[in-house]
Amino acid sequence: MKLYRIKRSKIDHRGRGLYATKDIRAGTKIIDYIGKIITNKKVEESDKFDNKKPIYLFTLNKKYTLDGDFPWNTAGLINHSCDNNCDYEGKGLKIWVTTIKDIKKGEEFTCDYGFGYDEDYKQFPCKCRAKNCCGYIVRAESRWRISKRYSMSNKKKLINNSN
Ligand SMILES: [Zn+2]
Repeated sequence: MKLYRIKRSKIDHRGRGLYATKDIRAGTKIIDYIGKIITNKKVEESDKFDNKKPIYLFTLNKKYTLDGDFPWNTAGLINHSCDNNCDYEGKGLKIWVTTIKDIKKGEEFTCDYGFGYDEDYKQFPCKCRAKNCCGYIVRAESRWRISKRYSMSNKKKLINNSN
C-alpha cells in the first residue's frame, strides 16, 4: 500500500497535496522525488529556470541539478509549510521525501521548499497556518539571513543540527 494519497490541499486551495494513508513514524521514506537531471550550467543559461520556478530545482552537486517540474513527479505536489513534517533527502543523484515527525493518518505531508531569502520571496506567500509561519515560503535557515542558494549539503547540516 502506498503511504500517500492525492487530495485537494488544505494549504494550497487551488492545488493538490499528498496525505498519509496511515500512521507513519518519523524517518520513513514516503516517495521518490523524480525529474530530469540537467547541468547547473543549463539552469544558469536557460530562461525556463529563472526565479519563477525555484521550488522544483534541487542542486545535486557542483555539476548537476534535478528539475522536478513534470506532471509525473507526484512528490512535486507536496506543499511547503513553515512547520514541515517531511524533508527532502538525497544521495548521489537521487532525492526522496522522508518524514521528520510522526505523522497521523490523514495528515498532509509538508516540506521546507528551501527558497533563499534573496530570491524574489514576496511572490511566494505562505498560507501554511503554522504558529511559526513567517508569511512567505523561505527556507528555515534563511528566514533571518540572506543565503544564495539551496543545496543538499546545507540541508543535511540543518537536519543534523535539529537532531
Ligand atoms: Zn508558512
